[in-house]
Amino acid sequence: MTLNIQNIREQFPVLDQEVNGKPLIYMDNAATTQKPKEVLEALSDYYTHDNSNIHRGAHTLADRATRAYERTRSLVKDFLNAAEEEEIIFTKGTTEGINLVASTFGRKFFTEGDEIIISTLEHHSNIVPWQMLCEEKGAILKVIPINEKGELLLDEFDKLLTNKTKLVSVVHASNALGTINPIEEIISKSHAVGAKVLIDGAQSSAHLDIDVQALNCDFFVMSAHKIYGPTGLGVLYGKREVLESMPPYQGGGEMIKEVTFEKTTYNEIPFKFEAGTPNIADVIAFQKAIEFVNKLGKANIRNHEESLLNYATEQLSLIKGFIPVGTASKKVSVLSFLIEYMHPFDVGMMLDASGIAVRTGHHCTQPLMNRFEIEGTVRASFSVYNTKEEIERLIESVSKIAKLKNK
Ligand code: PMP
Repeated sequence: MTLNIQNIREQFPVLDQEVNGKPLIYMDNAATTQKPKEVLEALSDYYTHDNSNIHRGAHTLADRATRAYERTRSLVKDFLNAAEEEEIIFTKGTTEGINLVASTFGRKFFTEGDEIIISTLEHHSNIVPWQMLCEEKGAILKVIPINEKGELLLDEFDKLLTNKTKLVSVVHASNALGTINPIEEIISKSHAVGAKVLIDGAQSSAHLDIDVQALNCDFFVMSAHKIYGPTGLGVLYGKREVLESMPPYQGGGEMIKEVTFEKTTYNEIPFKFEAGTPNIADVIAFQKAIEFVNKLGKANIRNHEESLLNYATEQLSLIKGFIPVGTASKKVSVLSFLIEYMHPFDVGMMLDASGIAVRTGHHCTQPLMNRFEIEGTVRASFSVYNTKEEIERLIESVSKIAKLKNK
Protein backbone atom coordinates (compact mmCIF):
# COMPACT_ATOMS: atom_id res chain seq x y z
CA MET A 1 0.00 0.00 0.00
CA THR A 2 1.28 3.47 -0.88
CA LEU A 3 0.84 5.85 2.02
CA ASN A 4 -0.73 9.26 1.63
CA ILE A 5 2.08 11.28 3.14
CA GLN A 6 0.22 14.60 2.98
CA ASN A 7 -2.60 13.10 5.05
CA ILE A 8 -0.08 11.75 7.50
CA ARG A 9 1.67 15.12 7.78
CA GLU A 10 -1.62 16.79 8.67
CA GLN A 11 -1.75 14.62 11.76
CA PHE A 12 1.49 16.19 13.06
CA PRO A 13 0.81 19.82 14.05
CA VAL A 14 4.47 20.50 14.88
CA LEU A 15 5.47 20.06 11.24
CA ASP A 16 3.38 23.04 10.20
CA GLN A 17 5.80 25.82 11.08
CA GLU A 18 8.68 27.87 9.76
CA VAL A 19 12.16 27.77 11.25
CA ASN A 20 14.55 30.57 10.36
CA GLY A 21 12.10 31.78 7.74
CA LYS A 22 11.93 28.38 5.99
CA PRO A 23 9.38 25.57 6.25
CA LEU A 24 10.56 23.15 8.93
CA ILE A 25 12.11 19.95 7.62
CA TYR A 26 12.40 17.64 10.57
CA MET A 27 15.11 15.01 10.01
CA ASP A 28 16.11 14.24 13.58
CA ASN A 29 13.77 11.30 13.97
CA ALA A 30 16.39 8.94 15.39
CA ALA A 31 16.65 11.34 18.35
CA THR A 32 12.89 11.51 18.77
CA THR A 33 9.88 11.35 16.48
CA GLN A 34 7.11 13.92 16.40
CA LYS A 35 3.72 13.10 17.91
CA PRO A 36 0.43 12.75 16.04
CA LYS A 37 -2.62 14.75 17.17
CA GLU A 38 -4.23 11.67 18.70
CA VAL A 39 -1.34 11.30 21.14
CA LEU A 40 -1.52 14.97 22.13
CA GLU A 41 -5.29 14.78 22.54
CA ALA A 42 -5.06 11.59 24.58
CA LEU A 43 -2.74 13.34 27.05
CA SER A 44 -5.07 16.28 27.40
CA ASP A 45 -8.19 14.04 27.57
CA TYR A 46 -6.69 11.96 30.31
CA TYR A 47 -5.87 14.97 32.49
CA THR A 48 -9.17 16.63 31.66
CA HIS A 49 -11.48 13.68 32.32
CA ASP A 50 -9.83 10.67 33.95
CA ASN A 51 -6.85 11.82 36.04
CA SER A 52 -6.55 9.43 38.93
CA ASN A 53 -4.06 7.09 40.55
CA ILE A 54 -4.25 3.55 39.25
CA HIS A 55 -4.65 0.03 40.65
CA ARG A 56 -5.73 1.11 44.15
CA GLY A 57 -8.71 3.40 43.85
CA ALA A 58 -12.23 2.26 44.66
CA HIS A 59 -13.83 4.91 42.47
CA THR A 60 -14.86 5.27 38.85
CA LEU A 61 -12.05 7.54 37.69
CA ALA A 62 -9.39 5.24 39.18
CA ASP A 63 -11.04 2.32 37.48
CA ARG A 64 -11.10 4.11 34.11
CA ALA A 65 -7.46 5.13 34.43
CA THR A 66 -6.41 1.62 35.48
CA ARG A 67 -8.21 0.00 32.59
CA ALA A 68 -6.73 2.48 30.09
CA TYR A 69 -3.22 1.97 31.52
CA GLU A 70 -3.52 -1.82 31.33
CA ARG A 71 -4.95 -1.60 27.82
CA THR A 72 -1.65 -0.07 26.69
CA ARG A 73 0.15 -3.04 28.21
CA SER A 74 -2.01 -5.32 26.14
CA LEU A 75 -1.33 -3.31 22.95
CA VAL A 76 2.41 -3.39 23.63
CA LYS A 77 2.22 -7.13 24.15
CA ASP A 78 0.71 -7.47 20.67
CA PHE A 79 3.13 -4.89 19.21
CA LEU A 80 6.05 -7.08 20.30
CA ASN A 81 4.15 -10.35 20.02
CA ALA A 82 5.01 -11.23 23.60
CA ALA A 83 3.31 -14.31 25.02
CA GLU A 84 1.80 -12.56 28.04
CA GLU A 85 0.96 -9.06 29.27
CA GLU A 86 2.86 -9.76 32.48
CA GLU A 87 6.08 -9.79 30.46
CA ILE A 88 5.63 -6.10 29.60
CA ILE A 89 7.13 -3.66 32.10
CA PHE A 90 6.79 0.09 31.77
CA THR A 91 10.00 2.04 32.32
CA LYS A 92 11.27 5.58 31.70
CA GLY A 93 12.85 4.46 28.44
CA THR A 94 15.44 2.23 26.86
CA THR A 95 18.08 3.54 29.26
CA GLU A 96 16.08 2.56 32.30
CA GLY A 97 15.20 -0.82 30.80
CA ILE A 98 18.89 -1.67 30.40
CA ASN A 99 19.75 -0.32 33.84
CA LEU A 100 16.94 -2.38 35.34
CA VAL A 101 18.36 -5.56 33.84
CA ALA A 102 21.94 -4.66 34.84
CA SER A 103 20.87 -3.88 38.42
CA THR A 104 18.65 -6.87 39.00
CA PHE A 105 19.64 -9.72 36.67
CA GLY A 106 23.24 -8.50 36.77
CA ARG A 107 23.49 -8.14 40.53
CA LYS A 108 21.87 -11.49 41.17
CA PHE A 109 23.53 -13.69 38.58
CA PHE A 110 26.96 -12.22 37.83
CA THR A 111 30.07 -13.27 39.66
CA GLU A 112 33.76 -12.55 39.14
CA GLY A 113 35.07 -13.60 35.75
CA ASP A 114 31.64 -13.76 34.08
CA GLU A 115 31.52 -12.16 30.66
CA ILE A 116 29.19 -9.73 28.90
CA ILE A 117 29.37 -9.19 25.15
CA ILE A 118 28.23 -5.94 23.54
CA SER A 119 29.16 -4.46 20.17
CA THR A 120 31.08 -1.49 18.79
CA LEU A 121 27.76 -0.05 17.60
CA GLU A 122 26.26 0.42 21.06
CA HIS A 123 24.68 3.58 22.42
CA HIS A 124 26.23 4.68 25.72
CA SER A 125 23.15 3.36 27.51
CA ASN A 126 24.11 -0.16 26.43
CA ILE A 127 27.74 0.29 27.49
CA VAL A 128 27.89 2.20 30.76
CA PRO A 129 25.44 0.07 32.84
CA TRP A 130 27.53 -3.01 31.97
CA GLN A 131 30.77 -1.24 32.83
CA MET A 132 29.27 -0.33 36.19
CA LEU A 133 28.22 -3.95 36.71
CA CYS A 134 31.68 -5.21 35.69
CA GLU A 135 33.30 -2.84 38.17
CA GLU A 136 31.06 -4.05 40.96
CA LYS A 137 31.30 -7.76 40.19
CA GLY A 138 34.70 -8.20 38.59
CA ALA A 139 32.99 -9.27 35.36
CA ILE A 140 34.53 -8.76 31.93
CA LEU A 141 33.13 -6.68 29.06
CA LYS A 142 33.91 -7.87 25.53
CA VAL A 143 33.10 -5.99 22.33
CA ILE A 144 32.18 -7.34 18.88
CA PRO A 145 34.20 -5.41 16.28
CA ILE A 146 32.81 -4.01 13.02
CA ASN A 147 33.99 -3.59 9.44
CA GLU A 148 34.42 -0.29 7.58
CA LYS A 149 30.77 -0.35 6.52
CA GLY A 150 29.66 -0.47 10.13
CA GLU A 151 28.60 -4.13 10.12
CA LEU A 152 29.30 -6.57 12.94
CA LEU A 153 32.04 -9.13 12.33
CA LEU A 154 30.21 -12.31 13.24
CA ASP A 155 33.31 -14.49 12.99
CA GLU A 156 34.83 -12.36 15.73
CA PHE A 157 31.62 -12.71 17.75
CA ASP A 158 32.00 -16.49 17.54
CA LYS A 159 35.47 -16.17 19.04
CA LEU A 160 34.23 -13.98 21.91
CA LEU A 161 31.50 -16.40 22.98
CA THR A 162 32.59 -18.78 25.75
CA ASN A 163 30.89 -20.77 28.45
CA LYS A 164 31.58 -17.79 30.71
CA THR A 165 29.34 -15.53 28.62
CA LYS A 166 26.36 -14.70 30.85
CA LEU A 167 24.78 -12.03 28.71
CA VAL A 168 24.94 -10.70 25.17
CA SER A 169 23.46 -7.22 24.86
CA VAL A 170 23.32 -5.75 21.37
CA VAL A 171 21.55 -3.05 19.50
CA HIS A 172 19.01 -4.12 16.86
CA ALA A 173 19.56 -1.04 14.69
CA SER A 174 22.33 1.48 15.24
CA ASN A 175 21.19 5.02 16.05
CA ALA A 176 24.45 6.47 14.69
CA LEU A 177 24.82 4.56 11.41
CA GLY A 178 21.49 2.81 10.85
CA THR A 179 23.03 -0.69 10.58
CA ILE A 180 20.50 -3.46 11.20
CA ASN A 181 22.21 -6.28 13.07
CA PRO A 182 21.57 -9.99 12.41
CA ILE A 183 20.08 -10.47 15.84
CA GLU A 184 18.44 -13.83 15.04
CA GLU A 185 21.87 -15.37 14.53
CA ILE A 186 23.32 -13.57 17.55
CA ILE A 187 20.49 -14.81 19.76
CA SER A 188 20.74 -18.45 18.70
CA LYS A 189 24.53 -18.52 19.00
CA SER A 190 24.36 -16.90 22.44
CA HIS A 191 21.78 -19.37 23.65
CA ALA A 192 23.97 -22.22 22.44
CA VAL A 193 26.55 -21.27 25.11
CA GLY A 194 23.86 -20.67 27.73
CA ALA A 195 23.96 -16.85 27.65
CA LYS A 196 20.88 -14.65 27.94
CA VAL A 197 20.31 -11.98 25.29
CA LEU A 198 19.11 -8.39 25.56
CA ILE A 199 18.13 -6.53 22.40
CA ASP A 200 18.21 -2.73 22.39
CA GLY A 201 15.24 -1.97 20.17
CA ALA A 202 15.27 1.82 20.57
CA GLN A 203 15.88 2.36 16.86
CA SER A 204 14.26 -0.72 15.40
CA SER A 205 10.83 -0.74 17.00
CA ALA A 206 9.41 2.09 14.86
CA HIS A 207 10.64 0.56 11.61
CA LEU A 208 10.89 -3.23 11.82
CA ASP A 209 8.35 -5.86 12.80
CA ILE A 210 9.27 -7.18 16.21
CA ASP A 211 8.31 -10.67 17.32
CA VAL A 212 10.02 -11.42 20.61
CA GLN A 213 8.73 -15.00 20.63
CA ALA A 214 10.13 -15.77 17.18
CA LEU A 215 13.38 -13.97 18.04
CA ASN A 216 13.47 -15.87 21.33
CA CYS A 217 15.37 -12.99 23.00
CA ASP A 218 15.31 -12.87 26.78
CA PHE A 219 14.93 -9.09 27.00
CA PHE A 220 13.86 -6.42 24.51
CA VAL A 221 13.92 -2.72 25.39
CA MET A 222 12.50 0.31 23.61
CA SER A 223 11.45 3.95 24.09
CA ALA A 224 7.96 5.28 23.33
CA HIS A 225 9.26 8.65 22.13
CA LYS A 226 10.96 7.06 19.13
CA ILE A 227 7.67 5.47 18.05
CA TYR A 228 5.55 8.66 17.89
CA GLY A 229 4.77 8.38 21.62
CA PRO A 230 5.54 10.51 24.67
CA THR A 231 9.00 11.09 26.16
CA GLY A 232 10.05 9.57 29.47
CA LEU A 233 8.33 6.26 28.78
CA GLY A 234 9.70 2.94 27.65
CA VAL A 235 9.11 -0.77 27.73
CA LEU A 236 11.13 -3.68 28.99
CA TYR A 237 10.01 -7.03 27.67
CA GLY A 238 11.39 -10.02 29.54
CA LYS A 239 10.57 -13.71 29.38
CA ARG A 240 8.36 -14.66 32.32
CA GLU A 241 10.77 -17.16 33.86
CA VAL A 242 13.69 -14.74 33.58
CA LEU A 243 11.75 -11.82 35.09
CA GLU A 244 10.50 -14.04 37.88
CA SER A 245 14.04 -15.10 38.71
CA MET A 246 15.15 -11.47 39.13
CA PRO A 247 14.92 -9.41 42.34
CA PRO A 248 12.96 -6.12 42.25
CA TYR A 249 14.57 -2.97 40.86
CA GLN A 250 13.23 -0.27 43.17
CA GLY A 251 11.31 -0.63 46.42
CA GLY A 252 8.11 1.26 47.19
CA GLY A 253 4.39 1.22 46.60
CA GLU A 254 2.81 -1.06 43.98
CA MET A 255 5.71 -3.52 43.89
CA ILE A 256 4.80 -5.22 47.19
CA LYS A 257 2.39 -7.91 48.29
CA GLU A 258 2.70 -7.31 52.02
CA VAL A 259 4.91 -5.04 54.12
CA THR A 260 5.77 -5.42 57.78
CA PHE A 261 8.77 -3.93 59.54
CA GLU A 262 10.20 -7.42 59.75
CA LYS A 263 9.71 -8.57 56.18
CA THR A 264 8.25 -7.53 52.85
CA THR A 265 6.95 -9.83 50.16
CA TYR A 266 6.93 -8.71 46.56
CA ASN A 267 4.17 -8.42 44.02
CA GLU A 268 3.95 -10.58 40.91
CA ILE A 269 5.40 -9.43 37.57
CA PRO A 270 4.98 -6.90 36.01
CA PHE A 271 4.14 -4.89 39.16
CA LYS A 272 7.25 -6.16 40.97
CA PHE A 273 9.22 -3.91 38.62
CA GLU A 274 6.89 -0.89 38.61
CA ALA A 275 7.44 0.76 42.00
CA GLY A 276 5.63 4.00 42.72
CA THR A 277 3.00 5.93 40.78
CA PRO A 278 3.91 5.33 37.16
CA ASN A 279 3.80 7.65 34.18
CA ILE A 280 0.05 7.05 33.79
CA ALA A 281 -0.82 9.78 31.30
CA ASP A 282 2.01 8.97 28.93
CA VAL A 283 1.34 5.23 29.09
CA ILE A 284 -2.29 5.86 28.17
CA ALA A 285 -1.37 8.27 25.35
CA PHE A 286 1.14 5.73 23.99
CA GLN A 287 -1.85 3.63 22.86
CA LYS A 288 -2.57 6.21 20.21
CA ALA A 289 1.00 6.05 18.93
CA ILE A 290 0.85 2.27 18.64
CA GLU A 291 -2.50 2.48 16.90
CA PHE A 292 -1.05 5.07 14.51
CA VAL A 293 1.77 2.67 13.55
CA ASN A 294 -0.56 -0.33 13.33
CA LYS A 295 -2.97 1.53 11.08
CA LEU A 296 -0.25 2.52 8.62
CA GLY A 297 1.50 -0.86 8.85
CA LYS A 298 5.19 -1.21 9.58
CA ALA A 299 5.92 -2.65 6.13
CA ASN A 300 4.40 0.43 4.47
CA ILE A 301 6.26 2.78 6.80
CA ARG A 302 9.49 0.97 6.09
CA ASN A 303 8.95 1.00 2.32
CA HIS A 304 8.46 4.75 2.35
CA GLU A 305 11.44 5.40 4.62
CA GLU A 306 13.65 3.07 2.61
CA SER A 307 12.85 4.86 -0.64
CA LEU A 308 13.74 8.19 1.02
CA LEU A 309 16.98 6.73 2.38
CA ASN A 310 17.99 5.22 -0.96
CA TYR A 311 17.23 8.41 -2.87
CA ALA A 312 19.09 10.61 -0.36
CA THR A 313 22.11 8.28 -0.25
CA GLU A 314 22.32 8.06 -4.04
CA GLN A 315 22.00 11.78 -4.67
CA LEU A 316 24.14 13.01 -1.79
CA SER A 317 26.92 10.62 -2.82
CA LEU A 318 27.22 12.56 -6.08
CA ILE A 319 28.24 15.69 -4.16
CA LYS A 320 31.97 16.41 -4.06
CA GLY A 321 33.20 16.30 -0.47
CA PHE A 322 30.26 14.19 0.80
CA ILE A 323 31.49 11.27 2.91
CA PRO A 324 28.91 8.73 4.11
CA VAL A 325 29.70 7.12 7.47
CA GLY A 326 28.17 3.65 7.78
CA THR A 327 27.25 1.97 4.52
CA ALA A 328 25.85 -1.32 5.76
CA SER A 329 23.77 -3.29 3.30
CA LYS A 330 20.85 -3.44 5.76
CA LYS A 331 19.92 -0.14 7.35
CA VAL A 332 17.04 1.70 8.96
CA SER A 333 16.48 5.24 7.66
CA VAL A 334 19.54 6.85 9.24
CA LEU A 335 22.10 8.65 7.09
CA SER A 336 25.30 9.71 8.84
CA PHE A 337 27.81 11.75 6.89
CA LEU A 338 30.65 14.24 6.88
CA ILE A 339 31.49 17.07 4.55
CA GLU A 340 35.18 17.15 3.77
CA TYR A 341 37.11 19.79 5.72
CA MET A 342 34.05 20.84 7.68
CA HIS A 343 33.07 20.33 11.28
CA PRO A 344 29.75 18.43 11.59
CA PHE A 345 28.44 21.07 13.98
CA ASP A 346 28.97 23.84 11.40
CA VAL A 347 27.14 21.75 8.79
CA GLY A 348 24.27 21.25 11.25
CA MET A 349 24.06 24.99 11.95
CA MET A 350 23.97 25.80 8.24
CA LEU A 351 21.26 23.22 7.65
CA ASP A 352 19.27 24.70 10.54
CA ALA A 353 19.52 28.09 8.86
CA SER A 354 17.68 26.44 5.95
CA GLY A 355 15.02 25.06 8.31
CA ILE A 356 16.47 21.53 8.24
CA ALA A 357 16.75 19.83 11.63
CA VAL A 358 19.49 17.18 11.83
CA ARG A 359 21.65 15.86 14.65
CA THR A 360 25.39 16.45 14.86
CA GLY A 361 28.01 15.01 17.20
CA HIS A 362 28.81 11.58 18.56
CA HIS A 363 25.16 10.48 18.98
CA CYS A 364 26.00 8.91 22.37
CA THR A 365 28.25 6.42 20.58
CA GLN A 366 31.74 7.74 21.34
CA PRO A 367 33.50 4.35 21.08
CA LEU A 368 31.94 3.93 17.61
CA MET A 369 33.16 7.37 16.57
CA ASN A 370 36.62 6.44 17.89
CA ARG A 371 36.52 3.31 15.72
CA PHE A 372 36.14 5.53 12.66
CA GLU A 373 38.67 8.03 14.10
CA ILE A 374 36.17 10.86 13.94
CA GLU A 375 34.60 13.10 16.57
CA GLY A 376 31.12 12.86 15.21
CA THR A 377 28.91 13.00 12.14
CA VAL A 378 25.96 14.87 10.72
CA ARG A 379 22.95 12.59 10.96
CA ALA A 380 19.76 12.91 8.96
CA SER A 381 17.13 10.36 9.98
CA PHE A 382 13.86 9.97 8.14
CA SER A 383 10.39 9.11 9.29
CA VAL A 384 7.05 8.32 7.75
CA TYR A 385 6.12 12.02 7.42
CA ASN A 386 9.23 13.02 5.46
CA THR A 387 8.78 13.62 1.73
CA LYS A 388 10.87 13.33 -1.41
CA GLU A 389 10.66 17.14 -1.75
CA GLU A 390 12.23 17.49 1.69
CA ILE A 391 15.06 15.16 0.65
CA GLU A 392 15.57 17.36 -2.40
CA ARG A 393 15.86 20.41 -0.15
CA LEU A 394 18.40 18.53 1.97
CA ILE A 395 20.43 17.61 -1.13
CA GLU A 396 20.32 21.19 -2.38
CA SER A 397 21.45 22.58 0.99
CA VAL A 398 24.23 20.01 1.47
CA SER A 399 25.41 20.70 -2.04
CA LYS A 400 25.64 24.45 -1.34
CA ILE A 401 27.43 23.84 1.98
CA ALA A 402 29.94 21.46 0.37
CA LYS A 403 30.73 24.06 -2.30
CA LEU A 404 31.77 26.57 0.36
CA LYS A 405 34.90 24.53 1.07
CA ASN A 406 35.44 23.15 -2.40
CA LYS A 407 35.58 26.51 -4.12
N1 PMP B 1 19.77 2.89 22.46
C1 PMP B 1 19.68 3.44 21.26
C2 PMP B 1 20.10 2.66 20.05
C3 PMP B 1 19.18 4.73 21.12
O1 PMP B 1 19.08 5.29 19.92
C4 PMP B 1 18.77 5.44 22.28
C5 PMP B 1 18.23 6.85 22.18
N2 PMP B 1 19.03 7.70 21.40
C6 PMP B 1 18.88 4.81 23.51
C7 PMP B 1 19.38 3.54 23.56
C8 PMP B 1 18.45 5.49 24.77
O2 PMP B 1 17.07 5.75 24.75
P1 PMP B 1 16.40 6.71 25.81
O3 PMP B 1 17.24 7.95 25.83
O4 PMP B 1 15.02 6.94 25.27
O5 PMP B 1 16.42 6.01 27.12
